[in-house]
Amino acid sequence: MGIIFDIQRCSYHDGPGIRTTVFLKGCQLRCAWCHNPESFLKRPQLQYISRLCMDCRTCASACPRGVHRFENDLHLVRFLDCSGCGLCAASCPGQALKLLGREMSASQVMETVLRDRSFYEASGGGVTFSGGEPTTQPEFLLKLLGLAKKEDLHTCLETNGYIPEALLSKLLPLTDLFLLDYKLTDAQELYQHTGASGGLWQNTLSTLQRWQIPVILRLPVIPGINDTPQHFAQAARIKRTHPCVQKIELMPYHSMGRAKWEQLGMRYPLGSLPDASPDQTEGWQAFLDGLLKTS
Ligand code: SF4
Ligand code: SF4
Repeated sequence: MGIIFDIQRCSYHDGPGIRTTVFLKGCQLRCAWCHNPESFLKRPQLQYISRLCMDCRTCASACPRGVHRFENDLHLVRFLDCSGCGLCAASCPGQALKLLGREMSASQVMETVLRDRSFYEASGGGVTFSGGEPTTQPEFLLKLLGLAKKEDLHTCLETNGYIPEALLSKLLPLTDLFLLDYKLTDAQELYQHTGASGGLWQNTLSTLQRWQIPVILRLPVIPGINDTPQHFAQAARIKRTHPCVQKIELMPYHSMGRAKWEQLGMRYPLGSLPDASPDQTEGWQAFLDGLLKTS
């Protein structure tokens, strides 16, 4: 069994063709711009949407751990004390409480994935495993990839690249394409904004190069954080020196995940940072194209 927080059918942005993207819960990083903060923990998590709350206080009676408290007309939720049992969400009449993440077996997941086989065949698509960081559920991920390969599906793995060598060597024969994040070039800033450190990312890329496994390098464009010429120049250098990198995709920052951070009881680290505009993203794309053309 593993923990999944979403399965998106008919996905067009996570690899070639029409795909189903399976989102596994759990991530070892804490990127400040993450738009899927419900993926951080490897267990079901409670979401509280205050605008839907009817102040009926049923949740306070339902919860065995005293997580919901009402003081001075305020509904206080002590998220840290929540075990994720889901009792309050099941009894909430306003749909203000939701339990995000559910246990599924690999064959249950594949049952959903295989419903769209004809679309994959017609479009050159397949299945993508994403997160969170899917490699934080290693046994479950290997099982899913193995089942997908048995069905002869094209497989993509969307990853931050911080994969232990022993696990990576097991993933290689089962994965057709890696969608590999490249977040920040400066090591100190990388640690500050994501919590990532160490040489595992470079090791992953070198191994993929050695095995000649196709890679799409994915760059989030976060205004004021990583949108510097040095960073994009380094991405271009990586592509030049690693022929396994087929292309670079820019992923413009959007703040749609902001509300979710608060609904999960966390402070959003980027405050009111505006979205990356289409002009900004196109500008960086042109800069990158120029560098790649001259190389
Ligand atoms: S049960 Fe739902 S609607 Fe009622 S107080 Fe709790 S969160 Fe609000
Ligand atoms: S999910 Fe369970 S432990 Fe968490 S607040 Fe609801 S009833 Fe309480």
